[in-house]
Amino acid sequence: MEKMFQNEIEFKNAFSSEEQCLSYLYDLRWPGGYQCPRCQGNRAWQIRRYKYKCQNCGYQTSVTAGTLFQDTHKPLPLWFRAIWYVASREENANALELQKIMGLGSYRTAWTWLHKLRQAMAPSLRKKLAGDIEAGVASVGSIDVFITASVQNSQVADIRIQLCPKKEKIASFQAFLNATVSDGSRVKVVKGFIQRGNRDAEYTLAAMAALKDWLAKTRWAGYSQENYLGYYLDEYCFKYNRQAEIRSGALCYELLYNAVHLTPVTYQEIIDAK
Ligand SMILES: [Zn+2]
Repeated sequence: MEKMFQNEIEFKNAFSSEEQCLSYLYDLRWPGGYQCPRCQGNRAWQIRRYKYKCQNCGYQTSVTAGTLFQDTHKPLPLWFRAIWYVASREENANALELQKIMGLGSYRTAWTWLHKLRQAMAPSLRKKLAGDIEAGVASVGSIDVFITASVQNSQVADIRIQLCPKKEKIASFQAFLNATVSDGSRVKVVKGFIQRGNRDAEYTLAAMAALKDWLAKTRWAGYSQENYLGYYLDEYCFKYNRQAEIRSGALCYELLYNAVHLTPVTYQEIIDAK
């Protein structure tokens, strides 16, 4: 199932029709055959193409219901192209470029698509870090964030960053550690802020400097507030140190996989975020 796509042409050909996309999403979502989201039953009547009614509880669903593609009015091949665009480039994606490539009429639509796709990069959908870990608090601009970073060969191999809540910071930091670091890891909690001159955080500092450059290219500050920073951090962490996977199409596969296994957000929820 884990089919990789080496280049854009191959990817476009594989997903040029609604049917091709739906068939692929079906296999990603239900590799062992249809399963009712409500009762987990395996038997269903097919009402229409890729629409089902559970024979056990009567629940009706479709292959895209409850996924990132739920309620979309745009053709799936367009969504797949957006996913290719976001996941096949090392640098950050931007809404204006996405709007041009997809031929979308409005900037707002492109912006919403991008944030939906970034949701499929959330740390909760990714495997936990392991081994030697540096953890602590740093700031991005004036915004505090929690960080966990796995260190290999004297550099950060993988990283997770999350906005720091205003209240109950200590409990939240502990929850963040539990959510992003696997049991048995060797965790060093950095004393004081992770910032230049803090020798306790030598490896994480380089990754933070790279993050600031990356964000400067995103120009996120130009059209957003603190609310949206979390989405940009998710994209940064998702792509961090994964050049080989980006080139091999593995990231594209991961994004599609996550897209059918997450709880979708709406435009309203994105603009009300956090
Ligand atoms: Zn059912």
